[in-house]
Amino acid sequence: MTQSPVEYFGQNVFNDQTMRDTLPKDTYRELKKTIDDGLPLNRKIANAVAHAMKIWAAERGVTHYTHWFQPLNGNTAEKHDAFLVPGEHDTVLMEFSGKELIKGEPDASSFPNGGIRSTFEARGYTTWDPTSPAFIKDGVLCIPTAFCSYTGAALDEKTPLLRSMEAVSTQTMRALHLLGNTDVKRVRTTVGAEQEYFLVDKDVYLQRRDLRYTGRTLFGATCPKGQEMEDHYFGTIKSRVHGFMKELDEELWKLGVISKTEHNEVAPAQHEMAPLFTTTNLAADQNQLAMELIQRIAKKHGMVALLHEKPFEGINGSGKHNNWSISTDTGENLLEPGDTPAQNLQFLFFLTAIIQAVDEHQDLLRISVASAGNDHRLGAHEAPPAVISVFVGDELQSIIDDLLMERDHEEISKTFMDTGSVVLPHLPKDSTDRNRTSPFAFTGNKFEFRMPGSSQSISSVNMMLNAAMADSLDQMCTRLEAMSDLPLEEAVHQIILSTLKDHERILFNGNGYSEEWLEEAKRRGLYNLPTTPDALAHYTDDKNLQLLEKFGILSREEVFSRKEIALEEYTNFVLIEARTMNSMARKEILPAVTHFQKELASTVHEMKEAGFESECLYQQQLLGIISPLVGKAWTQIRVLQESIDRIAPMSDGETKAFEIKDLLLPQMQALRESCDELERNTESALWPFPTYGKLLFGIL
Ligand code: ADP
Ligand code: MG
Repeated sequence: MTQSPVEYFGQNVFNDQTMRDTLPKDTYRELKKTIDDGLPLNRKIANAVAHAMKIWAAERGVTHYTHWFQPLNGNTAEKHDAFLVPGEHDTVLMEFSGKELIKGEPDASSFPNGGIRSTFEARGYTTWDPTSPAFIKDGVLCIPTAFCSYTGAALDEKTPLLRSMEAVSTQTMRALHLLGNTDVKRVRTTVGAEQEYFLVDKDVYLQRRDLRYTGRTLFGATCPKGQEMEDHYFGTIKSRVHGFMKELDEELWKLGVISKTEHNEVAPAQHEMAPLFTTTNLAADQNQLAMELIQRIAKKHGMVALLHEKPFEGINGSGKHNNWSISTDTGENLLEPGDTPAQNLQFLFFLTAIIQAVDEHQDLLRISVASAGNDHRLGAHEAPPAVISVFVGDELQSIIDDLLMERDHEEISKTFMDTGSVVLPHLPKDSTDRNRTSPFAFTGNKFEFRMPGSSQSISSVNMMLNAAMADSLDQMCTRLEAMSDLPLEEAVHQIILSTLKDHERILFNGNGYSEEWLEEAKRRGLYNLPTTPDALAHYTDDKNLQLLEKFGILSREEVFSRKEIALEEYTNFVLIEARTMNSMARKEILPAVTHFQKELASTVHEMKEAGFESECLYQQQLLGIISPLVGKAWTQIRVLQESIDRIAPMSDGETKAFEIKDLLLPQMQALRESCDELERNTESALWPFPTYGKLLFGIL
């Protein structure tokens, strides 16, 4: 009999229920308090928890544990240790101490550190994040941890995220108390990350070195059918994909991830998974798990999941919509406008704070999504542009307009959609009409940041969002505190008004994909940072160093190291792409086309011999098209090789990144164009690797 998800949900997680069931009552209570109040964990509790965890894991056949962490290479890292310790008389025991639970010392010298640790002190420390529960994955007990250096400098994604959550929580509490909302004891930022990905057949994938080495196709002529019919979006899910999705859901549920929706996306072979939102650091951990499971389970079903932001040219890329809000322990979502948002001063206060946060820290938000992969997507008329703006929807915009004009707002009564049918229920019309082109959109009771790339960790995205919001709230609270002589409502109203006036320029409700918007954004003085090097150049601006330092989210040293790591990742990534292209063009494409040329030339020769000289128009003309293209591609290969040889040894990350962006990428694009044109003219049977058609429409 098949089990219901209700029975197996969370079965692989040492969650609250398990702790309640397995820990002595007072230990459980103490642990809860430690977690809820963010207190340091004492050794006695740690020992009791470790003991209970070990018994729980061992009952499930687990023999190893690992400190699971997120170093700055975008992946998760784990090093497995057995629970075994020697017992008496040549026996072994299974043991797990509180010390082992809370602290690990992996040799961390090969994780990116951007110069923070010199190798003589290459030790790194992992410390348990008790707010994210331990879980069993692949028969190993995984303990979510933060990863830092000997001196406490963060070497991972989680540490600054936790710091930023604290900052935003402190400022939100301060704001709520000033606004008279004193019942609230705790707030948390919540996130739901929608994950897009492509599925391709494994055998087809294995035949393409570009996919294997870089995760995206570096060559490939568009096939006759693309996404223009829009028949894939929400279309019937193919049985092989369905089998995969079913297993993915089940495995995620066992890990306590409430995977809610699975559907086809706009592009052929593109899909999406959306979980239910949760506390930010948990959401980040769960998204890492989801990415890992998507890749692993796809393989079991004979497919490969591509998490790259732009695996195919001419076809939509993949993103990761980061839905973000703040909620209180009293169950209130602070971004819930209620029925009369115009009267809801608390809501307007937080809305205004976000508007200011995004305007003042556009650059940081852009930096948080900067990667070589995502550069192909942002601004490509399918994803939000590289310019950041905020969309609030008609209803909120009219409230803001009225506030700015200092006139009364007439509440629009909720309108209902007329479906024209009496049998269908009448649904209230959503006031946020979902502008898909906006990078930062209000969607009912949360903001959706749509720029993150599909392969990215959402940690740094949310770290920046939280930092920006903490700063904005801090400014507004400081002003409110200074206005204590005014009646509260009056003071709040004044602050909202003046803040909106200062940051109105960031609001944009039109088509974010249009050229006019780019012009308009420039006039408004908004940042336009189209590529990763452009964005990263601002990472160490004084404003940003001050902000991140002010809230203890990242020290100066940590910012500089993160910038260096990001630059290195960008340059390494594109250089691998360039080398792969060069090798594929040189060793696969040109030799294949040469065979075709030879076939054509000998046909021409033979036909001439046989007296059909004027009959071989096709062969002659095709040779006339192909041969100059081959010559052009050969020159491009050599030019590209020279650039690789010159740029690869460069030591200054920033100069190197700009050389890559300004020189290497255009050269790669030029080589691609010649090769794609060759593909269009070469006999399919001779083409050395599977085409777009096979990749995109190969799964039945
Ligand atoms: P959509 O129409 O975009 O599918 P949904 O309501 O289904 O909208 O939400 C999309 C994502 O946003 C889901 O992951 C969902 O859990 C998340 N989400 C919903 N409410 C919140 C919230 N208050 N905070 C953070 N994320 C949220
Ligand atoms: Mg969405």
